[in-house]
Amino acid sequence: MALAQNMPVLSRLVSSSVAIANHAGGIIREILKKGELGIVEKENARDLQTEADRAAQRCIISSLSKCFPKITIIGEEGEEETQVTSGKIFDPDLMPAVNVKCPSNLSSLEEEEIVVWVDPLDGTAEFTQGLLDHVTVLIGIAYSGKAVGGIIHQPYFNYQNPGAELGRTVWGVVGGDVGGMPLVSPPEGKLIVTTTRSHSSSTVNDAISAVSPTEVLRVGGAGHKVMLLLEGKAHLYVFASPGCKKWDTCAPQAVLEAAGGVLTDIKGTPIPYYSTAPHRNSTGVLASAAGIPHDEYVNKIPQHVKDNLKA
Ligand code: AMP
Ligand code: MG
Ligand code: MG
Repeated sequence: MALAQNMPVLSRLVSSSVAIANHAGGIIREILKKGELGIVEKENARDLQTEADRAAQRCIISSLSKCFPKITIIGEEGEEETQVTSGKIFDPDLMPAVNVKCPSNLSSLEEEEIVVWVDPLDGTAEFTQGLLDHVTVLIGIAYSGKAVGGIIHQPYFNYQNPGAELGRTVWGVVGGDVGGMPLVSPPEGKLIVTTTRSHSSSTVNDAISAVSPTEVLRVGGAGHKVMLLLEGKAHLYVFASPGCKKWDTCAPQAVLEAAGGVLTDIKGTPIPYYSTAPHRNSTGVLASAAGIPHDEYVNKIPQHVKDNLKA
């Protein structure tokens, strides 16, 4: 359904991005079904790109820029996949609109002030290994350097429950609502930490040991790990490494903060999402589920780990 043009831009952008992320999830499933993944190594053998990453980005960028021509969009994949005209355009008005309330401080944003960070397929390493529930599509919305809105689509949600509806899309606006999933608090009396499974290092492990977890969940994808915080399956996401990028954290941060959680770098400093910010989160990532004392865990991260991660 067409969205009223007098609605706040942020509400229209979140609603349209839910529809577009959902469509991109369908593209990813189709490509995997055909089995022609077209894998390319990017920085190294642990940093992969597939045809699903490329096609999903082409669709997201061309569709979003058709609806919102003045926003700045930064996507993970290369130049060709960033051309706004290179993908088949999906019209988000073909999907039912999502009713997104906009808090008053965000209700008069102009398109020109908005930066969108797109990770068309987060968890590519796991995707190529068949760990399909680790895969997400991430569309993060930033204003004034802050993550203010986010969409996390899980194309393979329920894939191990035949007969159940496949895929789901979660969204959030900071200071507003979270939609698309029930929020669950993590269990009391435990400290479950989630972290990388494919980009570990001694610094990553030193930071985890320092918070004394009762359990460590090593899984793929920044989007998937923040989903574990929202689902009550983990208390903390600890990643003391410079490998994560702004498109990995912008959408998850906005949804987590809309739900009452916190995401910063490993030193407790906010991550800047200006269009001119370096892509790399060189000082790591620390995220806490709602109700977890974030600052106490920042203080537990050893000084040598913090010193190792320079801006
Ligand atoms: P992970 O937790 O290892 O699944 O990583 C979360 C996100 O950060 C994924 O998009 C990874 O591709 C990215 N990432 C983390 N570490 C690295 C690295 N060392 N090199 C390239 N990408 C990385
Ligand atoms: Mg990613
Ligand atoms: Mg990616």
